[in-house]
Amino acid sequence: MTTGQQPRARHIPVRTCVVCREKAGKRALMRVVRTEQGIQVDSSGKLNGRGAYLCERENCWERAMTSDILNKALRTILTAEDREYLRQAKPKP
Ligand SMILES: [Zn+2]
Repeated sequence: MTTGQQPRARHIPVRTCVVCREKAGKRALMRVVRTEQGIQVDSSGKLNGRGAYLCERENCWERAMTSDILNKALRTILTAEDREYLRQAKPKP
């Protein structure tokens, strides 16, 4: 399998944290995806589904879990299981 390895870094995709709206390079943000199996944190960046990006700030994860920001971004309603999953998946300080 060939991965599309580029000889030069031409264009760094910039993503925005859905909570604090801070822009960062793709790697600095974690992608949360709504899949058919529920909410998943996508470390590979390859999961299909509607995604939202969260930065590594604990505050943003807390707000993502306790507000409806992610619901809106992912056009879903997070279940208690989803929130618990995010609690586990959140970056450890
Ligand atoms: Zn943030």
